Amino acid sequence: MKGKVFVIGLGLIGGSLAMAVRHAHPEAVIVGMDLSEKNIQLSMLLGIIDDSVSSLEAGACEADLILLAVPVNETVKILAQLADMDLKSEVLISDAGSTKDTVVKAAKPLIDKGVAFIGGHPMAGSHKSGAAAAKLHLFEHAFYLLTPGDSIKEEKVEQLKGWLQGTRANFLIVSPATHDKLTGVISHFPHIVASGLVKQAENYSKENKLISRLAAGGFRDITRIASSSPEMWRDILLHNREVLLELMNDWLNEMEHIKGLVANEDSEEILRFFTDAKIFRDDLP
Ligand code: NAD
Repeated sequence: MKGKVFVIGLGLIGGSLAMAVRHAHPEAVIVGMDLSEKNIQLSMLLGIIDDSVSSLEAGACEADLILLAVPVNETVKILAQLADMDLKSEVLISDAGSTKDTVVKAAKPLIDKGVAFIGGHPMAGSHKSGAAAAKLHLFEHAFYLLTPGDSIKEEKVEQLKGWLQGTRANFLIVSPATHDKLTGVISHFPHIVASGLVKQAENYSKENKLISRLAAGGFRDITRIASSSPEMWRDILLHNREVLLELMNDWLNEMEHIKGLVANEDSEEILRFFTDAKIFRDDLP
């Protein structure tokens, strides 16, 4: 496809999306914007973008496709600014944020103006951030959830998939609420638990320095995601608040249940707890 692509946020996800767009559409011109001068310089140097702009308006008003890959709170603010701009009538806008309900609500003024906004979430990533971590194949075979509203025409969704075909991801359409529930369960809540485990180890390491040295193997595996960007995760928790509060209550009940089993030395039920978990885990694709 020919046209101008404007990528806002040249970090891990924005950089990787830009690479995938370039790969499938070498004739497209990719313009980038970022608050970090370092990420802009690096994106230019690595050929991720052709040019950069320092104002939102300069990039947005010329663009055929606008991709937002900034922390979710910034996405919400930028969507409000875009709604006041004189954008191209056929422009397509999508984001890559890890939550969708508040983002799609923030896009309502744009959608009401007839602009095609389609929420997006490529379900792959890493605990690394910045343009230096961007990879062409980051999203290959991953799920890429799209949340178009009812007013968005099918052809616009197909057009977005066309722009993003270089990701080689598997696109799935879901509602914003379903998206937030699914990702709350399999990504956002586990992240809270991982960071909680690290904090617990940190507290005990004040009593015994051996904790840090022994925290290898399984502990490192299940807490790897605690090294991700704190700003990004702060925004995710604030934007998926209701779902996460519900999951936290479920988790507290589960912990109370297991605490009871351990306190009562209920060997049979403890075995059932681990057996049930193992069966479901072993069946995961
Ligand atoms: P990142 O920290 O690597 O990149 C974000 C970039 O946005 C940074 O370069 C930052 O300087 C820039 N930025 C922040 N506010 C800005 C603003 N107002 N204007 C312009 N640039 C701005 O983070 P990332 O991992 O690429 O995450 C980006 C988005 O993708 C987030 O919404 C996140 O929820 C989502 N996401 C992340 C992952 C992951 O695993 N990291 C996976 C899927 C989706």
